[in-house]
Amino acid sequence: MRKLLIGGNWKMTKGLKETSEFVSRIKDKKISTEGVDVFISPPFTSIAEAIVGFKGTGISVGAQNLFWEDEGAYTGEISAVFLKELGVEWVIIGHSERRTYFGETNAGVKKKVEKALQKQLKVVICVGETEEEREDGRAKEIVEKQIEEGLLGIEYDADTLAVAYEPVWAIGTGKTPHPEDAEEMHSIIRQKLGDKGEEIRIMYGGSVKVHNIKDFITQEDIDGALIGGAALDADGFVEMINIAKEIRCC
Ligand code: PEP
Repeated sequence: MRKLLIGGNWKMTKGLKETSEFVSRIKDKKISTEGVDVFISPPFTSIAEAIVGFKGTGISVGAQNLFWEDEGAYTGEISAVFLKELGVEWVIIGHSERRTYFGETNAGVKKKVEKALQKQLKVVICVGETEEEREDGRAKEIVEKQIEEGLLGIEYDADTLAVAYEPVWAIGTGKTPHPEDAEEMHSIIRQKLGDKGEEIRIMYGGSVKVHNIKDFITQEDIDGALIGGAALDADGFVEMINIAKEIRCC
C-alpha cells in the first residue's frame, strides 16, 4: 500500500516571524505523523528556521524550487547543493506558478529533477492542464507530455519521487475537479509512468481544504495532497494530517 504524502506549499508567504509562530502552534498541538509522510515548503529565507523548528515533529522541510547547476554566476538562483546542506528533504519542481510566471518548460523541469535526485533530494514534480486546455479536450495530452518530457530517461523510485497532479484552474481558486475526474487523471498518470507507476505516489493539488481532502485521498489512485492556501493555518494543516492518518495509516 502506498503511504500517503501530505505537502504544504507556502509559496511566497511566511517570513521568519510567521514561520516561528506556525512552528510554535504545531509544537503546542503535539502532533503525530505516524503512517503518513508530511512536508512543508516555506520560502527559501524561512527554510533554516523551519528545519530547526520542525525537528522532532515528524514534519520534513521542502523547497519550492532549485536551479540545475551546483554553483556559479546565476544571480538569484539556489542550488540543490545549498538546499541539501541546509537539511532540506523535499523539493517541489515545475509548479504551475513557476511555469506561468517564470517561463519554466518541461525541458527545464527535467534538468531540475535530474539535479535534485543526483543530490539526494526527494522530488515532487507538478503537472496539470490549464482551463483552456481542459475546455479544448487536451488535458490528458498536456499532462502526459509534462510527465514524458519532465521525466524521460530519469532514474527514480517511490522513495525519491512523487507526482502532484494540479489542474491549474483549481490552484488558489476554490474550484476543484470532481474527485472521480481527478482520480481518472491520476490513473492516466500512473499508466504513463510505466513499470514504476504502481509504486509512485501521485498527490492531488488544487484548493484542497479540511472539508474536501477526504473526498480526494480516499480515491484509489490519489496518494495524498499538495496544499497551498490551507497549509498556512497550523490547526487546519494538522486536521488534514489527522484525516490522512485515519484513511490510510499503519
Ligand atoms: C499549490 O500551491 O500547489 C496549491 C494547490 O494551492 P491551493 O491549495 O491554494 O490551491
